[in-house]
Amino acid sequence: MNQFLCFELTFCDRITYCNEHFRYHGTTRSCQVGDNGHTMLCHSSLCSVCSIIKTSFKVSLANPVGGFGKGIYTSSASNKYVSANYCDSSKGAMFVTKVVLGKVRNVSSFGEVNSCPRGSQLVFYNGRNGDEAVVYTNNAIRPVFLIVFG
Ligand SMILES: [Zn+2]
Repeated sequence: MNQFLCFELTFCDRITYCNEHFRYHGTTRSCQVGDNGHTMLCHSSLCSVCSIIKTSFKVSLANPVGGFGKGIYTSSASNKYVSANYCDSSKGAMFVTKVVLGKVRNVSSFGEVNSCPRGSQLVFYNGRNGDEAVVYTNNAIRPVFLIVFG
């Protein structure tokens, strides 16, 4: 049984808030993986796309200056990441991910929380430029599809 499924089952056994959604995650690549004819992953530790494909998401590698602390940020709006820093160049990429939302803590402003609030598994912010859901556990999220820009 894979780790994601184990996490999901454990999660659902413990709480009654089990809900799984497809969400977008914008990131960058330092190689050409995904471009026509480029199917091999690179070995650069700076290439977020290849690292995520190899090991899935790692909260430990997340940017600590996000609006809700060090977590993995996702959105239901694909255009959120196209217009952000991630995908405005030929090195941009976006994952379609599968996220176990768990018990959600809704917040109304950046900085309202800086880590996963006690008793919750996810922070949700419905901003005017699209919503954001932040997970703080590696096994709460898996990459499913990759979309590249260029
Ligand atoms: Zn790469």
